[in-house]
Amino acid sequence: MPAHDVLIIGAGLAGQRAALAAAQAGATVAIMSKVHPVRSHSVAAAGGINAAINISDDWHSHAYDTVKGSDFLGDQDAIEIMCSEAPTEVMHLEHIGVTFHRNAKGELDLRAFGGASMKRTAYVADITGQAILHVLYEQLLKHHDTVDRFEEWFTTSLIQDADGRCVGVAARDVRSGRMETFAAKNVILACGGAGQAYRPTTNALIVTGDGIAMAYRIGAPLMDMEMVQYHPTTLVENGLLITEGARGEGATLLNCDGERFMEKYAPNKMELASRDVVSRAEQTEILEGRGVGADGSGIYLDVTTVPRKRTLEALREIVNIGKDFAGVDITREPIMIRPGQHYIMGGVKTDANGATPIEGLYAAGEVACVSVHGGNRLGANSLLDTLIFGRRAGEHAAERAKGLSMPPSDDEQLRRDSEMIDSIISRERGGRRVSEIKEELGDTMNQYVAVYRDHEGLTKAHEIVRRLREETDTAWIDDRGTVFNQDVLGAIELGYMIDCAEATVVAALERQESRGAQFRTDFPERNDDEWLKHIDISANGAGPEVTYSPVTITQWQPEERKY
Ligand SMILES: Cc1cc2nc3c(=O)[nH]c(=O)nc-3n(C[C@H](O)[C@H](O)[C@H](O)COP(=O)(O)OP(=O)(O)OC[C@H]3O[C@@H](n4cnc5c(N)ncnc54)[C@H](O)[C@@H]3O)c2cc1C
Repeated sequence: MPAHDVLIIGAGLAGQRAALAAAQAGATVAIMSKVHPVRSHSVAAAGGINAAINISDDWHSHAYDTVKGSDFLGDQDAIEIMCSEAPTEVMHLEHIGVTFHRNAKGELDLRAFGGASMKRTAYVADITGQAILHVLYEQLLKHHDTVDRFEEWFTTSLIQDADGRCVGVAARDVRSGRMETFAAKNVILACGGAGQAYRPTTNALIVTGDGIAMAYRIGAPLMDMEMVQYHPTTLVENGLLITEGARGEGATLLNCDGERFMEKYAPNKMELASRDVVSRAEQTEILEGRGVGADGSGIYLDVTTVPRKRTLEALREIVNIGKDFAGVDITREPIMIRPGQHYIMGGVKTDANGATPIEGLYAAGEVACVSVHGGNRLGANSLLDTLIFGRRAGEHAAERAKGLSMPPSDDEQLRRDSEMIDSIISRERGGRRVSEIKEELGDTMNQYVAVYRDHEGLTKAHEIVRRLREETDTAWIDDRGTVFNQDVLGAIELGYMIDCAEATVVAALERQESRGAQFRTDFPERNDDEWLKHIDISANGAGPEVTYSPVTITQWQPEERKY
């Protein structure tokens, strides 16, 4: 049985950064991913990464913008750590080979991003995630003597010992269908978000909430799950993302009257207000009949305001996306977009070292909630979050491993998971297909748990999610084989997504106010007296249990948020 000091589930930016840090701290490391690491969803990150590296900038300003962007729900101690460590982290990336864009003077160039008081987003054209992910992958190869890779292995469960400590995982080799137990002194979850619980979403098919659900199932609390980010610029046709970098470079938003409507909603920051504000403004324009397109469900993003040469140089991916997926040359005409599900601010509750309340279990990246994004994440702060807290989790777990002996092996969970998989594969046709349930889940979340929410819609969503959970018990799949059986993995992922969706709906019902990404039309005001607190969701036998935890405030008292 494989046994390591630190076992990392996920090989996106958070996982690879954690692996590098743990290996450099002397730990034996295993890194597991259900897809090849460079196909992890981080590869899609486009616009850039924030850091106060300009000499006229200051990390305090970055931190304040982040706190304000979070609608004062972010924990300020964690935000201070992220923003103060950002410049060193970005320079580290530069030194290990990330080819950040440079200006005419040869300095690292910075672009404008939403909610930021100055230009502080470092970027590699609009392929920043891909550039960083490949460099980390290469760097990790240097540690081949202490880092074992389990590529295309799918984790099915976390394993606990009799005292509740996390001591490993059960996993399935996607290529062969073989199950294996992995022992570890520490497990770091770096499994990414849960965007596929929505339809459409900007997130890849693999982003199915696995880490969140696996942690939740063994008793780890989830925090801020009601905070789901709708990105202002996703393609009407299919939800694909047009990076905020476009607006950072000067693209504008127009309604059917050709009006730059953001003047009404955020006169100072206009299109570069925070994402929750811009998405709500767009949705309001659409609902009030000023949308564009045949059914009025879109908004125009006009990139022709950006010099063509600059667009072709710094936004080349979205030029291709426009052509390939909407048939639009964005250098010559506006493209139709609308708000679409993009990111979850919530996740597994951790401290600033990535530790969860379950001993031996860490989480970092989109799977985790530290909480640096609170009610709304600023664009280009997620890559930063993955790297800062990935590194800290890797270092902390490596240090903790030094004082521990390897936990004894136990195949009990492996046996249970093997039986679960066999039972899915052997189900007779009769119930619904897994894919149908997934579609209904996504449509439901997108209808009722979106930019605008209310009690009635959320209650309906909760009823539907509970029914869908029951239907998964008889849901059937086509593939009965063992080699690359993505069908059976899809059935397991559906269960993970339903856990995430239920936690989101329950938390959204609970929070009776409007803050950040949660806008309740039945409670349209922010209410700091009652709701300046985190909502924590834990699994208990009867369903999700709600508790609260305080928001950490250090330097910035809550104030009215204006852009
Ligand atoms: C289109 C797009 C553009 C974006 N652009 C930006 C940007 O410019 N700047 C920014 O800051 N943020 C951006 N974001 C957000 C950011 O990319 C993500 O939040 C971030 O990359 C998540 O990284 P991660 O390491 O947490 O997870 P991921 O990169 O999603 O990696 C998750 C890993 O977990 C593995 N995994 C999951 N489940 C299992 C399992 N059961 N068993 C084994 N392995 C598993 C996966 O294989 C994968 O390796 C963007 C997001 C999208 C969708």
